[in-house]
Amino acid sequence: MITMMTVAAWLAGVNHLPLPIVEEAHAQTVAGAALAPADDPLTRPIGGARAAEWLAPAPPVKIFGNSYLVGFSGLSVALIDTGDGLVLVDGALPQSAAAVLAHVRQLGFDPKDIKFILSTEPHWDHAGGLAALARDTGATVVASERGAEGLRLGKHAADDPQLAYGGGWPAVSTPMRVMADGEVLPLGTARITARATPGHTMGSMSWSWQACERKKCKEIVFAASLNPVSADDYKFSSAAGAPFVAAFAQSYRTMDALTCDVLISAHPDNAGEGRFSAKPRACRAYADRSRKALAKRLAAEKAA
Ligand SMILES: [Zn+2]
Repeated sequence: MITMMTVAAWLAGVNHLPLPIVEEAHAQTVAGAALAPADDPLTRPIGGARAAEWLAPAPPVKIFGNSYLVGFSGLSVALIDTGDGLVLVDGALPQSAAAVLAHVRQLGFDPKDIKFILSTEPHWDHAGGLAALARDTGATVVASERGAEGLRLGKHAADDPQLAYGGGWPAVSTPMRVMADGEVLPLGTARITARATPGHTMGSMSWSWQACERKKCKEIVFAASLNPVSADDYKFSSAAGAPFVAAFAQSYRTMDALTCDVLISAHPDNAGEGRFSAKPRACRAYADRSRKALAKRLAAEKAA
């Protein structure tokens, strides 16, 4: 009950309260009284004020057909109902795992039916909750090869432009599945395609699938972050940055070529207004935004 009330209070916007950190089944009771849940290393809050901003509450919503959003105002988590199990895309933060699962339940689904959790990148804001979600649902985490490496470590890769920021997040210790660019994950009525979109990290992977309602179908793209950001002293124009600049160029071509009726971006504000974009050419606009930011960044480095 305490867990349920905490979730309700949090969904109602009381976001300065500690976030719910355990499933009800894990709560300890003595003489019928619920005690504070034991400290859970997989759901310990990280990210401070930035995290609170990204985790501003948003209700779960249907996008189209079998596809839903179960994340937050500033961080996307998608849910796909394949008819033979559920799939999540991204895991948000450790402290938000319980709220993601509460959103799944609110839509009438059982979190135990989540078979796979697809990861867009090995960074704390999208991957921080994966370990807890995988543990609590039994789902298999799926990522690119470089992505999976980062998820097993729970920290930035040695070549990550944001390496100097430091910090980490709960590592995924359950078995993972690695997928390559263009590979398809079939489950129930869904066929979800891995789309390598490196640049922001070398392991960044976007995911696309078709959602249908009656006879109408839409191609949904969940795009990994494509913003060229780095820690302070990093230069994309350096030798270390060159593979990243080349990777971005490849990812822009990929995004430009995708059929993209609906774009969900890992951080919704990168896709324009609202929690997803159904505007024509949304994926191209998304790539363009990064293309311009990277050009600006390289020009600034050159001028410095
Ligand atoms: Zn990132």
